[in-house]
Amino acid sequence: MAEPERFIARHVSGLPRSGIRDFFEVVAKMRDVISLGIGEPDFVTPWHVREAAIYALERGRTHYTSNLGTIELRRAISAYLARHFGPEYRPEDEILVTVGVSEALDLALRALLNPGDKVLYHQPCYVSYMPGIRLAHAEPVPVATRAEDCFAIDPEVLEAAWTPGCKVLLLNLPCNPTGGVTDREPLERIARFAVEKDLLVISDEIYGELTFEGTHVSLAGLPGMRDRTLLLHGVSKAFAMTGFRIGYACGPAALIEAMMKVHQYSMMCAPILSQDAAREALTRGEDSMLRMREQYLRRRELVVRRFREAGLGCHTPGGAFYAFPDIRSTGLDERQFALRLLEEEKVAVVPGTAFGADGAGFVRASFATGYDRLIEACDRIERFAGRVAAGGMA
Ligand code: PMP
Repeated sequence: MAEPERFIARHVSGLPRSGIRDFFEVVAKMRDVISLGIGEPDFVTPWHVREAAIYALERGRTHYTSNLGTIELRRAISAYLARHFGPEYRPEDEILVTVGVSEALDLALRALLNPGDKVLYHQPCYVSYMPGIRLAHAEPVPVATRAEDCFAIDPEVLEAAWTPGCKVLLLNLPCNPTGGVTDREPLERIARFAVEKDLLVISDEIYGELTFEGTHVSLAGLPGMRDRTLLLHGVSKAFAMTGFRIGYACGPAALIEAMMKVHQYSMMCAPILSQDAAREALTRGEDSMLRMREQYLRRRELVVRRFREAGLGCHTPGGAFYAFPDIRSTGLDERQFALRLLEEEKVAVVPGTAFGADGAGFVRASFATGYDRLIEACDRIERFAGRVAAGGMA
């Protein structure tokens, strides 16, 4: 009997395994590791939000919802976006509630791309982008962002990467893994470029609230963009609700309808208890969110300063909860750095190449970890970097 692998679709067997997953299988087998590897808040979901889920359960809300999501949640999303950074979206037909931004992203790619279409996106980027594009039988076209620019998108570099066949521009600002943000002016230029090249923009703004200087500018709100942008957002990061699995997509009704068809035949609807909790977060969760953001900001100041003191180059991330230090001064590559740091000092960070080839020479260190543990992690990293610089081993 031949191997069962022969049954696997070619475009799936060709996908690389996530670099993060491989690495964290090693971490899981070790004891006393301080992990700066995880991409989720260390905070437990605010109590009033958990209570909303409990209350929904008490009231027997245990059924399917509309495929689009409950109308109450869609109204809350519409009001929330209008209040914060997005344009206004009609709850009736311009908003789709999904199982995390993960599902929204998958739906957008599957509903909009034909085989062979090209997708422009900036790199280093979230681990799902390239595989998501490939799973939709489309072609990834990565565009590098650089530490010198604090990983902001340079419109010139983006424009130069365009080739015929590019249909979608996929953006993530603030960016996982770099914390990169992009000012309004270059964003406006990117918007004009999208109009000129007739690109559809998928804008993953999951870290929008976690912008540390100024306020987040949503691409969907810039001139000419509303009709060609799908704004993806969710409650996982800003409200510490990763386990609830609620995201949403907003955009022109025709595109939301196309995504809804894929959603209807695959996921059907997001869990009702989670939808009720998300509604509570969006309507009454602002104070909790601001308190968490304050903590992230305090932690950002700590890790950036400590990385620099340890001799690692580190730009100041403008948003999200990741630092992305340059480890080239140690003479190690990102994988060696991460592996040796783990073995010798029991601190886990993610090699930058897990986020694409442009992450070479960098590692991602999440500061969604308690302040005291971060101090201890920084002490260990400093000791490690000093030892490596002196040519030492464990
Ligand atoms: N987009 C980005 C940029 C992310 O970092 C993440 C989670 N790490 C997601 C999407 C998916 O988030 P969720 O499915 O929990 O909404």
